[in-house]
Amino acid sequence: RVAVVGAGVSGLAATKCCLDEGLEPTCFEQSQDIGGLWRYTEHIEAGRPSLYPSVISNTSKEMSAFSDFPFPEHFPVFLPNALFLDYLRLYTEHFSLREHMKFGTKVVSIRQRPDFATTGQWNVVTEAAGKQTSDVFDAVMVCSGNFSEPSLPLQCFPGIERFRGQYFHSRQYKHPDVFQGKRVLVVGMGNSGVDIAVEASRVAAKVTISTSRGSWLLSRVFDHGYPWDMVLNTRLMSLIKTNLPAPLSWWLLNYKANKWFNHENYGLQPEKSWLVREALLNDDLPSYILTGRITIKPGVKEFKDSSVLFHNCPEEEPIDIIVFCTGYSISFPFLEESVVRVENKHASLYKYVFPTHLQKPTLAVIGLIKPLGGIMPMVEMQARWVSRVFKGLCQLPSQSVMEKEVNEQKKNKVQWFGLTFDEVLKTEWLVYLDTLASFIGAKPSVLGLLFTDPWLALTIFFGPCSPYQFRLRGPGRWEGARQAILTQWDRVLKPTRTRVPAGSSSSFPSLLIVVGFLLLLAAVIFGF
Ligand code: FAD
Ligand code: NAP
Repeated sequence: RVAVVGAGVSGLAATKCCLDEGLEPTCFEQSQDIGGLWRYTEHIEAGRPSLYPSVISNTSKEMSAFSDFPFPEHFPVFLPNALFLDYLRLYTEHFSLREHMKFGTKVVSIRQRPDFATTGQWNVVTEAAGKQTSDVFDAVMVCSGNFSEPSLPLQCFPGIERFRGQYFHSRQYKHPDVFQGKRVLVVGMGNSGVDIAVEASRVAAKVTISTSRGSWLLSRVFDHGYPWDMVLNTRLMSLIKTNLPAPLSWWLLNYKANKWFNHENYGLQPEKSWLVREALLNDDLPSYILTGRITIKPGVKEFKDSSVLFHNCPEEEPIDIIVFCTGYSISFPFLEESVVRVENKHASLYKYVFPTHLQKPTLAVIGLIKPLGGIMPMVEMQARWVSRVFKGLCQLPSQSVMEKEVNEQKKNKVQWFGLTFDEVLKTEWLVYLDTLASFIGAKPSVLGLLFTDPWLALTIFFGPCSPYQFRLRGPGRWEGARQAILTQWDRVLKPTRTRVPAGSSSSFPSLLIVVGFLLLLAAVIFGF
């Protein structure tokens, strides 16, 4: 019996993967429905992320799908939040997940049973309609999300107590009318900050973004109009990103990022351009900077009654309203700190999933990772691995080996080869997926396929690493995987090629044939 905490993307994947392995999941969701983050509500619910209505996914539908359930082909390539939720509903119905869910039920405490050392069992206390119930579970998957506790470090902003205008955290933001005619300051340039600044600038008198570190900005519409993640997250690109000498990797990254526009000229250049941070995805910001709707400034030095001073800028800027887009804190209020300790937005977990010190590996955290790519295939892969560990079909290394790896990760050392990722991104998307896939025997063998199914091998190696690749073999193999891979571009073009009849395949695969054979030799040398 497995307790799953939360019915967002992670909880749905966890419930499905438990069922696939013949485990018995019970998914507890404190709100009244599935979807977590992706279920927009006008009012803000405690413990659940709050979206603004205009949120659109920043990862494409092919790279955000669960690996055995492609998005419907008529869905747009990037998804407004309501359509994302529709997809999650389709997934829930298709795999009959609802019957394993208890809505309106909050998990209030998870504690080891006295005989934990031998049974690995947990006491799970839940609360529904004011009544508490305690149950025993053999294992727990924590899927409670990490975007519902705002981080508002007011102590970092001298003078904020004097400021006489209005201020709030981005979690409170819903509609741009609050900015009508106002001079707006957005503090923090993550994706929330940029989205909110762009929306505000359509009605506000003036909008300024303050960023201390800067960031690379990508467009959803990447090379030749293809979705950014389908171009960048390929096996070939991953090989290049992880194997080139570090200076060459940085140069390549800088070159690629500056192709759209020169970040320095737009005030966006990242402070440490060699350290890969979560990229911004926004198609409007450069043109809004160019047209003067948005101005970029450095970090805040001090607030005054009705103005702000920035570092290295002598003049004060008058402002009426501040939006702190300063991100979120992570916590697990239902767990003891000794089980999962969070320090400085980090939890010490093996492969970002398992506590290293438990006598039995019967508790796992799903979704506590933000690599540069879709989160859905990752949480699904985590859940596939975890359910096999729970079942005893996969073993974890010894405590000392796991601790050593976790401590190494914390050091954030600059690599000699490949890119170095910051503490938020942590790791390369495809490398992480492949690592977990190899634990359960689901990593595709490109070399093997080259002999048995060369066209598929080429598509897998040079094309986007769509999640269906991890259903070609191993446990949970899906008959439709090959077809889903070969038709991935059709599903991308279907909603956009609406003026001419969509062909059965795009020009991209034909390009693949030419480029593919040329690069095949190089690929073999790399040894896949
Ligand atoms: P959540 O969606 O937060 O779900 C957690 C669920 O757990 C909630 O329903 C909550 O009510 C429930 N819960 C919490 N505590 C308890 C408890 N004690 N008892 C019972 N239930 C509980 N990722 C992408 O890959 N692509 C994107 O385009 C993308 N866009 C994003 C946009 C925004 C604005 C944000 C904030 C994040 C975005 N992300 C994106 C990352 C996002 O984290 C994932 O897409 C994903 O939705 C996270 O799902 P989750 O299930 O882990 O968490
Ligand atoms: P975030 O990515 O964590 O960014 C928070 C920003 O706040 C930091 O980048 C930093 O900006 C600033 N900051 C943090 N601590 C600070 C401090 N002490 N003082 C000053 N500034 C500080 O948070 P977010 O933008 O809310 O995004 C949360 C997640 O949601 C991300 O994964 C994001 O990709 C996702 N998201 C996605 C979409 C979408 O379109 N799909 C939309 C919104 C959010 P500076 O370094 O610039 O100062």
